[in-house]
Amino acid sequence: MVSKQLNLFAFIFTLIFLGNQSLGSQTLRGFSPGKAEVQIKLEQTLKENIHSETFRSHLYAITSEPHHAGSEASRRVIDYLSEAMENAGLEVTHYDYDVLLANPGEVKIQLISDSSKKLIPNREYVYEEDPWSAHPELSHGWNAYSGSGDVTAEFVYVNYGTKEDFEKLDSLGIELGGKIAFARYGRNFRGYKAKYAEEYGALGLVIFTDATKSRLDPSATFPHTGFLDHSAIQRGSLITLDYYGDPLTPHGPSLPIDHPDTPERLDIADVDLPRIPVAPIGSAAGAKILSAMQGEKAPDDWQGGFDFEYRIQSGTDVKLNLMVDQPREIKRITNVIGKIEGSKYPDEWVILGCHHDAWTFGTADPNSGTAMLLTLADALGELMSAGWRPERTIVFAHWDAEEYGLIGATEWVEQLLEELKANAVAYFNADMTATGARFGAAATPSLHTGIIEASKFVTHPDTTISLFEYWTKDIETGRAPIGRLGSGSDFAPFVLYATVPAAQIGLYGSVPVYHSAFDNLYYYESFLDGDFKYGPALAAYYGLLTTRFANAEIIPYDFHRYAVKWILHLEDLEKEFDGVNLSNTNLMNLLALLENQTAFYNELINDFSEHGIPMIESVEKLNKELIVWERNLFLEEGLPFNQWMQNIFISPDPFQGYAAWVLPAIRYVLLSEDETVKDEWASIIEKHEIAVRQMLLSMHRINDFLYGE
Ligand SMILES: [Zn+2]
Repeated sequence: MVSKQLNLFAFIFTLIFLGNQSLGSQTLRGFSPGKAEVQIKLEQTLKENIHSETFRSHLYAITSEPHHAGSEASRRVIDYLSEAMENAGLEVTHYDYDVLLANPGEVKIQLISDSSKKLIPNREYVYEEDPWSAHPELSHGWNAYSGSGDVTAEFVYVNYGTKEDFEKLDSLGIELGGKIAFARYGRNFRGYKAKYAEEYGALGLVIFTDATKSRLDPSATFPHTGFLDHSAIQRGSLITLDYYGDPLTPHGPSLPIDHPDTPERLDIADVDLPRIPVAPIGSAAGAKILSAMQGEKAPDDWQGGFDFEYRIQSGTDVKLNLMVDQPREIKRITNVIGKIEGSKYPDEWVILGCHHDAWTFGTADPNSGTAMLLTLADALGELMSAGWRPERTIVFAHWDAEEYGLIGATEWVEQLLEELKANAVAYFNADMTATGARFGAAATPSLHTGIIEASKFVTHPDTTISLFEYWTKDIETGRAPIGRLGSGSDFAPFVLYATVPAAQIGLYGSVPVYHSAFDNLYYYESFLDGDFKYGPALAAYYGLLTTRFANAEIIPYDFHRYAVKWILHLEDLEKEFDGVNLSNTNLMNLLALLENQTAFYNELINDFSEHGIPMIESVEKLNKELIVWERNLFLEEGLPFNQWMQNIFISPDPFQGYAAWVLPAIRYVLLSEDETVKDEWASIIEKHEIAVRQMLLSMHRINDFLYGE
């Protein structure tokens, strides 16, 4: 220990006195100066290989027909992806699974009053301007995994259908039992609206898109502007199981039925999917129902975008008839995986992915991301035909059935769990990412620095400044704001189930039409990107980011960010919950040590990048240790509220769905009023201490590798 500390002093001394001597050329985190020069040249060529026309033609090929998972059109997309990546020179493999999906089936909604019956429309309008809106294969509005049934009853407006909204109705003495719930979109994941409606005894649920006050006039909406028209319907899945992936195989891959290792599947009847019928409608259809209601006025904060009063109850003379016939069926899905094998470390994988299935055309969600990834694959392919290879393997993953419940990606992560835990360097998710000018990122803390650095090397397509400058131009501190990963896309199984660091990075615009018939090429070209420039710019960015993680001598993680964020979040929890002491604790002391250790490691890496200190004898071992560092967050027994989620640092909000909770086990215990949960406090804190201790030990090993023994 003593000699190491001396070493440390000598090293800091060197940093202070020699630190300024070799400035001038560009440094890249984790690259020695010579290799950085080679990398920067490679990046230049890569950017030159990226063409807007390539992006445009991929986007057209993939999104010219609706292609939900399990459909015939989806098969054509799978073929296209396979061919496109093969043409680029990638090695393509199909990963097939047989999983429980649902078909659109039939939906019929009627408003019944004064013995008259009015059909409530649940299809989008056809517009002359938008030829895609007339596509014969467009489905009616539906929510996947709805129950089937035919119910007629009075109905109750439940606002957004959050937990609090249902509690409020309860406190007002309004019974949902035997009635149909009527909820607006927003605030929570739609599946929770259905879950709570069913728990409170509703016979069915209709979800409508609320209007926006300033855009009641149709001339203010699509197709005249990019704002949502009054017929657009948000389709989407209702699944809220406490695991992702195939509902029938919670902890393993749903290998095909005819595969020798096909797993035992749960009985559909034993899976907690919605039992009540649920269907979505647009805002014009919603207005028809709202304006027919006769009950008492809803509270002020329950009023919405239409300029009439929203009421709570329909009144006894007004009823809804809701019929949903939605067959559930085990169907084949296919992930299309393309690989560029690494020349030096083929076992270490940098993974890029985006789902390929879409509720309708999917031009923005998800396939702007798909076309971007294909454009990048083409550009890397061009480099490969000139003899280039990345040092680590680059994997392009096009996932199936994301929209139903992150199914394709989850089954793959479950299938390859051990390999991924040992070898996955990072996962970058491109779902719906090339839709506008705003650069944004959400990521695991260890990837923040890499994400920020790469953004300094790509020009924002609307300007002459870098993505980074564009990103931070209105931020006083100049610090790039990076969000947290909650749920809602395919990074979730990587982060939550395998503790693989992940990120979702994009050039974003506003896409109110997502999951509707208008997420199509007309909308994309008219309101998102008529020049097809954001996709190619993002492909360049992903190319830099990926090849840096694939080529760096030392993988450019930044663990210091983890320690800093961890401490910050403990402090925040202490402020949020009265009487909780988290700052004068053993856990905090350990984190302070980790903060120190990781800061010191960062100095070593910076010095390496500036001087290329030749002390690294065991770089291979070092990188192996870096790759598994985040496995210390892995909780074998899962989180207290969810066994399947095994990352102690982050989870989605278990009550609302999309948003993220940091240090979820601690937050859950603090929020709980259940004494048996509260009794878990000491053991939960201890689990955090164990994780941090292991991270510290790992940092010691890492520094040993850097010094040599
Ligand atoms: Zn998506």
